[in-house]
Amino acid sequence: MYTLILSCEHASNSVPEQLQATFEHRTQLLRSHRAYDQGALDAAERIAKVTGAPLICGKCTRLAVDLNRSDKNPKRFSQYSRKLDAANRKLLEKQWHQPHRDSILNGITRIIQSNTSALHLSIHSFTPILDGVRRDTDIGLLYDPSRKRERAFASDLKSEVSRIIPNLKVRFNYPYRGVSDGITSWLRKQFTETKYTGLEIEFNQKLLKNSTEWNKCIGAFIAALEKVKGMKSAIFE
Ligand SMILES: [Zn+2]
Repeated sequence: MYTLILSCEHASNSVPEQLQATFEHRTQLLRSHRAYDQGALDAAERIAKVTGAPLICGKCTRLAVDLNRSDKNPKRFSQYSRKLDAANRKLLEKQWHQPHRDSILNGITRIIQSNTSALHLSIHSFTPILDGVRRDTDIGLLYDPSRKRERAFASDLKSEVSRIIPNLKVRFNYPYRGVSDGITSWLRKQFTETKYTGLEIEFNQKLLKNSTEWNKCIGAFIAALEKVKGMKSAIFE
């Protein structure tokens, strides 16, 4: 038995009070992929609606503090928030970083305490071109290859998405490695493989340019997820 829980670390581009002045005239930056994951909240909400799974969303821009970086990672602060004094940086962590991560940790702990195993999907999106390099994939499934259940789940999900829409490009551990610092890597350290299966899902923001394409991609992903969840797969036995 397992229970699904969703999170969306980069859902919001809201600016915390202590950075309001810094971003006052940086509207374009706040609307860009550097501030938040375009489309990720929409995808996460749709998945939550169909599956009935709880969804925990980040409430501030990653240019303030990155909720997908652990509390020891200096990169959790951006070039803008790094300029704040220590007290204000601490406040950012206390108000935004810690509550988000505590919510997920508590949600997963509750699932495990009710004698099921947790399936956590952390929903993100990525910019189609980074540093001049085109990323030619529609959906990235990020997991830890050393965890059997994550590997099997990603494999089933990819096969099912490809069966529904054969020309959607799904890749494993792309555009990032599943084991890099992130919310799922952090949670893997707290829970054993049998208790916790965590994948980061990355949708290509290029799909947002055409709402039909975007809807088709999210629809296929949800249908695939529903199918794989219902499959009597070796993963969850
Ligand atoms: Zn993200």
